[in-house]
Amino acid sequence: MHLITCHHEGRERVGVLYDRNVVLLPPDGWPASMLDLIGAGPAVLDRLRRELPRLAARPDLCRPRDRVELLAPIPRPRKNIVCLGLNYKDHAEESMRAKGLPVELPEYPVVFTKSPTSVTADGAPVPAHAGVTHELDWEVELGVVIGTGGRAIPRARAFEHVFGYTVINDLSARDLQFRHKQWFLGKSLDGFCPMGPALVTTDEIPDPQRLKLFCRVNGVTKQDSSTAQMIFDVATIVETLSRGMTLEPGDVIATGTPAGVGFARQPPEFLKPGDVVECEIENIGVLRNRIV
Ligand code: MG
Repeated sequence: MHLITCHHEGRERVGVLYDRNVVLLPPDGWPASMLDLIGAGPAVLDRLRRELPRLAARPDLCRPRDRVELLAPIPRPRKNIVCLGLNYKDHAEESMRAKGLPVELPEYPVVFTKSPTSVTADGAPVPAHAGVTHELDWEVELGVVIGTGGRAIPRARAFEHVFGYTVINDLSARDLQFRHKQWFLGKSLDGFCPMGPALVTTDEIPDPQRLKLFCRVNGVTKQDSSTAQMIFDVATIVETLSRGMTLEPGDVIATGTPAGVGFARQPPEFLKPGDVVECEIENIGVLRNRIV
């Protein structure tokens, strides 16, 4: 299922993309938010899958997709988004070269986070923060959402803990990211984590390491790769993060970006007001935002 969160009559509602419509979960007897749905466990998700055709036949729950105002699938995560840095070989190489450093691939996953307040929706305008940064850059990434929490999750059981996948644009203020040494501030400005449009359940993504992913700026392809190119795959990431830190339902992990980001280009390219960034991942969707 392609699950979405939207604004409907002044309230946040969870829905499912179904044909060309959004089918809203009924207000009574169903989880009221995506975090509640994730926390409710697999039985509720199975029930939703079974009852979807019946719910889709109810006019009070069905809306044309283009008439619905989407929010991010998880509009306000409970915790920071956990992010992998330099997790594609070609991106690690371009980053080192752009900084004049010897090319060295990470021996262990590079982990940083983005603030929950940076999350924004597909279609939402992203502020350029002109007085704060002059080096706004794009990064298409596969987002992984944890379903069943746990600690010390072995690789072989990692996917039992994954609820689904989404598209994330790990927008980055490169000047802030590098000036402040820690990446957190340059990755966390308001609007810097577009997410969506949907959260796709794992049954529709049998192998997350075989997905094509793209980033286009004003229609020009800047990134074109496959999740097969990750240095540390999703199972390894879940194993590594959970070794001593509890993962909880609704935790969001951004798994890193492939080559083609702006700061590593010759000459460097950065986003400016009016630019439209489209991040696309096969079988998940297209995440589109305009810089304003
Ligand atoms: Mg990134």
